[in-house]
Amino acid sequence: MSEKIKNEKGGISVETEHIFPIIKRWLYSDKEIFLREIVSNASDAITKLQRLISLGEVRDLEFDGKITVSVSKKARTITVSDNGLGMDADEVKKYIGNIALSGALEFIQKYEGESEGATDGIIGHFGLGFYSAFMVADKVDVISRSYRGGDAVKWECNDEGSYEMTTPYDKEDRGTDIVMHINGEGEEYLDAFKLKGVLEKYCSFMPIEIYFVDEDAEVKEGEEKEEEKPINDTLPLWQKNPSECTDEEYKAFYHKVFGDFNDPLFWLHIKADYPLNFKGILYFPKLTHEFASLEGQVKLYYNQVFVADNIKEVIPEYLLMLRGVLDCPELPLNVSRSYLQTNGYVDKISAHIVKKVADKVNSLFKNDRENFEKMWGDIRTFCEYAALCDRKFYDKAKDSLLMEVVHGSHVTLAEYLEAAKETNENTVYYANDVELQAQYISMLEAKNIKVVKFTQMIDTQFVQMLENVNENVKFKRVDSDIVDALKGEGEAEHSEKLEKLFREAAGNEKLVVKCEKLSDTTIPAILSFSEESRRMEDMMKLYSMNGMNIGGGFTAENSLVVNVENPLIKKLSEDDGENSALLAKQIYSLAVLSQRRFDENEMRDFLAASYEVLSKLS
Ligand code: ADP
Repeated sequence: MSEKIKNEKGGISVETEHIFPIIKRWLYSDKEIFLREIVSNASDAITKLQRLISLGEVRDLEFDGKITVSVSKKARTITVSDNGLGMDADEVKKYIGNIALSGALEFIQKYEGESEGATDGIIGHFGLGFYSAFMVADKVDVISRSYRGGDAVKWECNDEGSYEMTTPYDKEDRGTDIVMHINGEGEEYLDAFKLKGVLEKYCSFMPIEIYFVDEDAEVKEGEEKEEEKPINDTLPLWQKNPSECTDEEYKAFYHKVFGDFNDPLFWLHIKADYPLNFKGILYFPKLTHEFASLEGQVKLYYNQVFVADNIKEVIPEYLLMLRGVLDCPELPLNVSRSYLQTNGYVDKISAHIVKKVADKVNSLFKNDRENFEKMWGDIRTFCEYAALCDRKFYDKAKDSLLMEVVHGSHVTLAEYLEAAKETNENTVYYANDVELQAQYISMLEAKNIKVVKFTQMIDTQFVQMLENVNENVKFKRVDSDIVDALKGEGEAEHSEKLEKLFREAAGNEKLVVKCEKLSDTTIPAILSFSEESRRMEDMMKLYSMNGMNIGGGFTAENSLVVNVENPLIKKLSEDDGENSALLAKQIYSLAVLSQRRFDENEMRDFLAASYEVLSKLS
């Protein structure tokens, strides 16, 4: 080595002692991001050198950028090496030894009150990225040699912020090695398998090839410790031109990134140019059940570096039901996530995505209705949720939104209303439990009225929304206010006698009993609800399921519609046979049974009464 070794000691700067503990405390919950930060710096160093070459500022140099991440449990080190532009001693002092303190201090003052995690993803953009290494290391060495030649340098810094610099240092190749001496906090990352997992999570699509090395691995003679293939794909699919990507590539990318063996239903490759400047692929996954749809995953990247999954501030919440990748190099990540919410750029990204998604839904509907109907079950929750959350989505996609018809296929709202003109103008009948409501459904079907299925939780709100935006249209559940639709000819007279009999049978003196002539004479009685009060009850149930205490239950008003055209009812209204009470009780129970499930007592009473009926038949 050179005879004049310069050895310099120092402290990073006055404020450093404030910064180290804060880095440790704040980033504690997400300490694995140190790897992303250090590897990103390596990647930046290579990109910068490549840019200098392409600008002609560096001549006679050609190289393949390469980053190596190596770990040795024995030596307790993790090393990230690059062949980028490197630094000389002055540069190390300037860029690393002197944290961009003004920025850092501002950052600390601004976000000191924020919860842990709120700052994830931004640290790197404050010139603090390098220091995130101290979350897992008690000492970090920077060994570097500049592309300009000159002496190499070794800079060693401990976790109290004091450093030692040695130059010249013995390093032949251009570039930088960052050697992290791992402390107790970082123990888990010394495990090669774990470390590689973290590397894959953040760096799978970085633009420079990254090789992984387990220094402690035993290798046979002639073999290398370094893995043969890079861990990353330097040109991820979203960066390519949609016209150059095949279906197979889209599917393979989906399987790989989301670990789902099923094929996605369809996808959307978005490339927004200036000024939005973002790219991404959104997939509509195949669902197995309603709630599966709420477990989507949208991965956010910043110039091919993974930032985080499902950041609500950047991606409208309902899009988080989908799966996909979004690369937003313009994201102002350097401020804070709360800032992102009000940032115009983010709103524009959302608006752009929403428009593209609606366009896609519309084109699938228009171009291949049959296939679209087949996949409707998988995408309806998404579409309904999107329509609920974003009126713009609804307005754009409304003519493609389908409703499933019981015993039929699918219709749009406009198609339903058109077909209903004669029978049930401006009223949509729906069932939320096709088995339970079978009788009501057949009664309506007998009148040529179509019933659609709204069986999911979200439908309560969706129906409400449809009514709000389509002023004249009413939605009625099949057991609600349906009597008009089912009436036969002529008016029925009210019967005090039947009222009394059924109130006694129901054990409810306030039961509203209405006499009607229904066209289906085989049915003695049905229960009918006011749609409004039933919805109220549904809402209350939903609230209390969500843990809201609204005090007491709310029961929808119902009435018993007695069909005076039915022979049994005729008999009951004419004479007082010895079996009248038992008959009325059974008729009432059956009306309840065709509307909802019995409670425990009702079930017991019903069975006992049924046995009594049977014994009378024997
Ligand atoms: P940031 O990357 O946000 O600027 P860092 O604290 O991570 O902040 O790094 C500070 C500076 O140190 C970088 O801007 C860069 O100039 C320099 N640097 C860090 N790592 C490397 C590296 N591997 N090669 C060359 N320069 C580096």
